[in-house]
Amino acid sequence: MLTTTNELGYYEIRLESIGGLGANVAGKILAEAGVIGSGLNALNFASYGSEKKGSPVKSYIRFAPKEKQIRINSPVVQPHLVAIFHENMVNTNPVTQGLRKDGIVILNTSKSVDEARDFLKLASGTVATVDAIRIALEVKTRINMVMLGAIVRMLGFISLDSVKEVIKQTFEKKYPQTIASNLAGLEAGYNQVESKFFEYDGKYQYVEYQEERRPMGYKNAPIGGTIVEYANTITKNNMTSRIGKIPVFVKEKCINCGLCETTCPDYVFVWDRIIENGKPKMINMGLDYQYCKGCLRCVDICPAGALVEGIEREYDIEKISAKHDFDIYEKWYEDGEKR
Ligand code: SF4
Ligand code: SF4
Repeated sequence: MLTTTNELGYYEIRLESIGGLGANVAGKILAEAGVIGSGLNALNFASYGSEKKGSPVKSYIRFAPKEKQIRINSPVVQPHLVAIFHENMVNTNPVTQGLRKDGIVILNTSKSVDEARDFLKLASGTVATVDAIRIALEVKTRINMVMLGAIVRMLGFISLDSVKEVIKQTFEKKYPQTIASNLAGLEAGYNQVESKFFEYDGKYQYVEYQEERRPMGYKNAPIGGTIVEYANTITKNNMTSRIGKIPVFVKEKCINCGLCETTCPDYVFVWDRIIENGKPKMINMGLDYQYCKGCLRCVDICPAGALVEGIEREYDIEKISAKHDFDIYEKWYEDGEKR
């Protein structure tokens, strides 16, 4: 039963995620379970930019008592609950904006609730944490199932059994082999989420919702719609696309064949040019993890075992990252004759 609603009579949820983590499916399952198993009215829809894996995605869910119809389908700007599917989003997106003063924020992280509150800079409300990446890897499910379990626990008014039923119905036709692991992930998220309420203590300030405005429109877009700035990919950051795994470079095994370079869609590998026996030679220096989205294609292609699959949080990414030195590339370019 709904005990908290806004002035319009709705309980509102916003899932903050990136393409590929399954927030859209999680939102659908949650809304359906609310209708089927908890006697509520519900509405769900998602918004995303390009369909590319790794771009920001928001999924919105509104619940209302059975006797009240839901007549609006605009984005949720003052959510009662926000669930953040990837902690790397916190630094790049205003994920908690508009959250109600007594709202709930659920973060996928291995941090404690106190650490998470500081990380989120949350003024007040309930902080809940669940290590969804670890659980998903352990039980071989997706992050969305673990987050769904944590959300159901924190909501308190959606029956876990009805969510299980909807999961079975959703996957039984196309992916029946995933049902058992999805249910295990759901239950683990439900059982392992931890939470704590924080009173307002002046440490952090509330973040109002601000409508996103694009910096370029029809009035100021560059001619032909092309962004002409040199090397605009320097600012690209693919770290939010990774879901727990990274390729790890074992330099001693590398034979500098270049297969990883031609396979990687994001130019992650850093190369240096040396002179060997009077001839120039390119050698692989490793990965610049800023650009790596964790697809692991390079691990599959490497013929020498010089790239192996690793769990991201077991490494200090800054330490193992080989940074592109764009000045050197510039020099090589100018110095073309000697290449
Ligand atoms: S594919 Fe493997 S051996 Fe070849 S350059 Fe890349 S890391 Fe080295
Ligand atoms: S996992 Fe490998 S192929 Fe995929 S983006 Fe990262 S470096 Fe490139």
